[in-house]
Amino acid sequence: MTRHVAIVGSGPAGFYCAEALCKKDPEVRVDIIDRLPTPYGLVRSGVAPDHQGTKNVWRVFDRTAMRDNVRYFGNVEVDRDVSVAELLERYDAVVLAVGVTEDRPLGIEGENLPGVYGSRQLSGWYNGHPDFSDLDPELRGPGIAVIGNGNVAIDVVRVLSRERDEMVKTDIPDYAMRKIESSEYTDIYMLGRRGPAQASFTTAELRELGEMTRTVAIVDPAQVPDEVHIDDPKQQKKMEKIVETLRSYSLDRPDDKPQRLHMRFFAAPVRILGEDHVTGLEVAVTELVDGRLKETGETYVIEVGTVVTAIGYLAKPLEGVPVATWGTCFENDAGKIADRLYAVGWAKRGPSGVIATNRGDSGDVAAKVYDELEDGGRAGGDGLAALLRERGVRVVDYAGWGKIDERERGAATEPTPRVKITSMADLLAAGE
Ligand code: NAP
Repeated sequence: MTRHVAIVGSGPAGFYCAEALCKKDPEVRVDIIDRLPTPYGLVRSGVAPDHQGTKNVWRVFDRTAMRDNVRYFGNVEVDRDVSVAELLERYDAVVLAVGVTEDRPLGIEGENLPGVYGSRQLSGWYNGHPDFSDLDPELRGPGIAVIGNGNVAIDVVRVLSRERDEMVKTDIPDYAMRKIESSEYTDIYMLGRRGPAQASFTTAELRELGEMTRTVAIVDPAQVPDEVHIDDPKQQKKMEKIVETLRSYSLDRPDDKPQRLHMRFFAAPVRILGEDHVTGLEVAVTELVDGRLKETGETYVIEVGTVVTAIGYLAKPLEGVPVATWGTCFENDAGKIADRLYAVGWAKRGPSGVIATNRGDSGDVAAKVYDELEDGGRAGGDGLAALLRERGVRVVDYAGWGKIDERERGAATEPTPRVKITSMADLLAAGE
């Protein structure tokens, strides 16, 4: 008898889970459901457009999607078109790979002023995500503040700092490139509330900030420690490289290039200034006392017309599936949410880890799903398809995605890899 698994979300965590299940048993039917007509989640619309090499992992997912026992249900949204309970009626197991979908709020005055954007919004916009392609951010200068010291903050800074020539081999939508090159900001401030040794960005990403054509990265040498001492030898090595890179930036001069990236540490945002739009950001100088973050009492204001927060994300509950009290993932025990219901990826562990992290993590959950998988005589994908038909939901299958893909690639001229279709209506038409 056939056993049926539904995976909700077609990003890396969902696809790695599908692949692991197929490898365990090619007889298991695996259906991947996504609210967008396009698969691959953050690989398509989170990974920065100038990281095309990273995006190439789609080829691995494509092989999984082409398996005989795997079916793709695009343009199907859980809680709009079908509930988790209804999926559980039709599938022997349901795995939520829906990621985390809300920008974490800063919780400071002025946060709701026009000119403040979350990194999810902004990176969705410059990646052509249909939810954000109409964002049309103002990118007002003279400065832009990017808050956070993780790899997402670095992505945002890099994309806002690049010039057109550096982006021709990418799939950044033309509307975003035009906005970036026509905006008149000259200074970007990347603010970390703690020090360089506590930053969560990685060395390769930090190094890229030193290789931009029009933007020079600047660091105050006084903020770079002479040496770092961390107990974990691997962390120690990583931090030494980070500090060494920052030290090299501290030798650069502000007028070396037309635009400046100021990397400021021990800088915690306390108030966004402005009446009907952002005009500045008040920053508190901080220090670490016995490892704890404290404000020194000193503050300063930076003149910015735009603020981008890149400080992490929060999960959104689904009907009957609560988010954990700390807000960043579903309540789960090593991936298990409830009987026959599981979570993988950021929905399981919160927004941490790179794409490859999901290979092992989703593999572990897939092993558990498989161990507990029993044939309940459920209808699987045919049952879901019938329900969706009844509800008039227009499903985009993997062949439909193939048509979108072909259209996007066909519209591009070398060396641009694709011209993304960025509205839902156009995606649905192309996938017809
Ligand atoms: P992250 O690495 O957790 O960084 C979040 C940053 O926000 C930290 O510096 C944190 O500071 C800061 N922050 C949190 N709350 C704050 C507040 N109220 N005020 C000021 N700063 C605040 O998260 P992320 O950058 O969103 O990245 C998510 C995951 O995706 C990470 O694992 C990342 O490596 C991965 N990713 C990888 C790549 C890549 O490989 N190229 C690209 C993008 C994302 P504290 O440390 O002080 O809390």
